[in-house]
Amino acid sequence: MKKTRLNKKKVAFAIILLIVIVAIIVTLVTCGIKYIIYLSSDEYKLKEIGYSEEQITTILKYATDNELEKIKNEKYEKQLTTFIEQKYFIYDKLADYIEYYNQDKTVDVSKVISIINVGADKDFYQDPKKTDTSLKELMLVNKFNYLDKTYVPENIVDVSVQYAYDDNEVPEFVYEKYLEMWNDANEDGLTLIMSSSYRDYQYQEELYNNYKNQNGTEWADSVAARAGYSEHQTGYALDIVTYNSTMEDFENSDEFKWLNENAYKYGFILRYPKDKEDITGYAYESWHYRYVGVEVASYIHENDITFDEYYAYFIENKQE
Ligand SMILES: [Zn+2]
Repeated sequence: MKKTRLNKKKVAFAIILLIVIVAIIVTLVTCGIKYIIYLSSDEYKLKEIGYSEEQITTILKYATDNELEKIKNEKYEKQLTTFIEQKYFIYDKLADYIEYYNQDKTVDVSKVISIINVGADKDFYQDPKKTDTSLKELMLVNKFNYLDKTYVPENIVDVSVQYAYDDNEVPEFVYEKYLEMWNDANEDGLTLIMSSSYRDYQYQEELYNNYKNQNGTEWADSVAARAGYSEHQTGYALDIVTYNSTMEDFENSDEFKWLNENAYKYGFILRYPKDKEDITGYAYESWHYRYVGVEVASYIHENDITFDEYYAYFIENKQE
């Protein structure tokens, strides 16, 4: 009897011991696995590079998968988190953002992003690129992107003097959109007048050269685009005013107010907005509208960005 009880005790002890050992092993294995997982995690990798907990949280919140892979393969950059949380951040431009920002820290960070994205940190006409005309209404023509002599829009038609001053011509498709807009504005008791539209390369060349011959390159550049660099050559740019208004005071008209609220619904955007000169390269022009299609115009309108910024982030950035 005694012996059996003793045996039972021994068995119970052995079972308990076994449970304890198994528990310890399970705990160790779990911890080990967790540690191995941690070692291969983004957090660990970023910590190893030198990022703080706070920086890691920011990076993991904003970086895309692609960006994270790049960040993990680069050395520590203390200013990364200043820029990565910006909406239009492009990782490959980080070094340029930092360089520009460090020269003048009074500039808003989002402005630095915009200026670098569109290349406006360079001088006008420096390293210009021939624009991709296959993008049609999304082609970019500005002081860094040009059209060559041979570019002429397709299906150009004359605009009736009911809707425009004399001698205006635009691609048929743009005309249809303009007419839709014209009619809706007219129903609201307003009259839009197209004052300038498609202008060919030769026209711009003569205009620019006249200025240049009068007062030199610097002055000519301040008053006119060089040939090939005028958005009017695309056929997608329209100058719109109303009767009894000059271009300069168009911004005080009801027609301007209406365009400001409605132009995007027809695919048009105000191309050179107020306070965006350092991005567009042009002073505010309340009369200059650009057709980019309804979808893109709506995005630009809602997000209050310029076409240059849209192009840099959503078109050029995706091509690279
Ligand atoms: Zn214009």
